[in-house]
Amino acid sequence: MLNIGITGGIGSGKTTVCKIFEKLGIPIYYADDRAKALMIEKKEIIEQITEIFGKRAYYKNGKLNRRHIAKIAFSTPDKLKALNAVVHPAVKQDGIDWAKAQKNVPYTLKEAALMIESGNYKVMDKLVVVAAPEEIRLARVMSRDDATKAEVKARMDKQLPEAEKIKLADYVIHNDGSQSLILQIWKLHQEFLKLK
Ligand code: ADP
Repeated sequence: MLNIGITGGIGSGKTTVCKIFEKLGIPIYYADDRAKALMIEKKEIIEQITEIFGKRAYYKNGKLNRRHIAKIAFSTPDKLKALNAVVHPAVKQDGIDWAKAQKNVPYTLKEAALMIESGNYKVMDKLVVVAAPEEIRLARVMSRDDATKAEVKARMDKQLPEAEKIKLADYVIHNDGSQSLILQIWKLHQEFLKLK
């Protein structure tokens, strides 16, 4: 089974691109959503996060206290490292299990914002990078998340620059309005069908 990774900077349009692949019948693993789910579902992870951030890491109803975690992780880099060391391997394994369970599909896609930064791109057969200029990405995220330019920039600064991502890509989808998104996706889909 061909497992394809898809990444790109915040606001590049990864999710939008994946929704179109979904319409073509391709199963998609949304790593960031799964990470959030695992953090509240998986007993070992809950225990480890509680150990790192204390009992306040979770509300009584089982929800994650993101504000508490973000505050500590932001000011204590070692705790952020420890959190990543718990979550990243768990998501990696969950993604491998998920991919194995997919039957009768030509290929799978895995979407993750920090796929390159986390090193997880190395386990994918092919890597797609969705690209768009920073100004466009900024404007999209400000409007999508009702966020200020400074807030979006702060999130962008934690990500590898787009040019670095493109260097590692097998395929680039240009989502800057200069060419049809659907046509690019359709062509890639045909290419992946040939590879399988
Ligand atoms: P990402 O998942 O990479 O952060 P999204 O797919 O959520 O990006 O896209 C960011 C925002 O920009 C969303 O609101 C989305 O609807 C919008 N968007 C994405 N691609 C386009 C496009 N080609 N034209 C117009 N709006 C777009």
